Amino acid sequence: MAGIYIHFPFCRHKCNYCNFYSLATSKHHDELLIALLKEIELQQDYLQGENIETIYLGGGTPSLLKAAEIEQLLHAVYKLFTVIDEAEITLEANPDDLRAPKLRELKQAGINRLSIGVQSFQDEDLRYLQRIHTANQARNSIKRAQDAGFSNISIDLIYGIPTLSSTGWEFNLLDAMGLGVPHISAYALTIEDKTPMALQIKRGKLPDVNDEDQLQQFIILTDLIQANGYLHYEISNFCTPGMFSKHNTAYWQGKKYLGIGPSAHSYNTTSRQWNIAGIGQYLTAVKSGKLPFEQEILTIPQRFNEYIMTSLRTMWGCNLDIVERDFGVDWTNQALADAQQFIDNGSLIQKGRILVLSQKGLFHADGIAAELFRID
Ligand code: SF4
Repeated sequence: MAGIYIHFPFCRHKCNYCNFYSLATSKHHDELLIALLKEIELQQDYLQGENIETIYLGGGTPSLLKAAEIEQLLHAVYKLFTVIDEAEITLEANPDDLRAPKLRELKQAGINRLSIGVQSFQDEDLRYLQRIHTANQARNSIKRAQDAGFSNISIDLIYGIPTLSSTGWEFNLLDAMGLGVPHISAYALTIEDKTPMALQIKRGKLPDVNDEDQLQQFIILTDLIQANGYLHYEISNFCTPGMFSKHNTAYWQGKKYLGIGPSAHSYNTTSRQWNIAGIGQYLTAVKSGKLPFEQEILTIPQRFNEYIMTSLRTMWGCNLDIVERDFGVDWTNQALADAQQFIDNGSLIQKGRILVLSQKGLFHADGIAAELFRID
């Protein structure tokens, strides 16, 4: 089983914190659609005939595409790949794009899961993030999606925003759960270098994030959401029973995926490749029938590190039997020895042959995983 990701990089407006490959223009919209269709064709052998379990349209803002254009993209995938009957087909959407007629068309086009970029249910936070929707638009878009028959809905929320108090964060979570959203992705606000937000903070025009507030809100998040019956199945992802994101879970389980579109990444267990993150170069390459990517063959330590990093992020944890099967007894023993300090300080929990991060460890997952890494 494998997944296909399609990247649509255009947005109505560039949010000040955004570090994704996204452009506030629609200048090449039509050309890009043609190129995406062509790239799907060019890459038809990449997954070596594996069945497709998930298709994910991300961005950017792919909800700027018309439903008919989305249908064209899905049709191209169905024509060239074997997509299983119950495939999960997700569209990332901004609340301002989800009007009732469009939602009905999206459903007809084959979208069966929406991932809505809500970020906060409070206008002050949305202004800080320079989002162009309001809290009410976000709430209403969820209700309209439910009315249109979408039951598999995920929303993105951001915590640790300087304008967001702990009470406000609790309110956001209760609002999301009260709306009956079965999947929530919650991320700490990260100030990425070279973003307008980083510059605005540096110049004193915006207040900076506070690490202690972020940790406090992470604890509120994990406590409150689990008390309400949601599973904390990956550091930033929570769902009601059975409502995991199949697409993202496949990434964390090391399954193959093909990325289509500028900046999209692909992985086939032995190598990783990434498309050019430049719309002009991407369009030129695809137009002339060339695949627009760079590639790296993964070394054994890289594959080991990847498994440690992704498995520790999930509630299923790092399985030492898998480490032993794929990398041998010596590396397994070394991983266990490296993990001991974190088991002793309560950041990692050992359950037989499984290592899982505790709530304390989850907030420092990347640092802990790095201590277990092998160097080339
Ligand atoms: S809508 Fe999303 S992808 Fe587009 S600029 Fe804002 S955060 Fe980035």
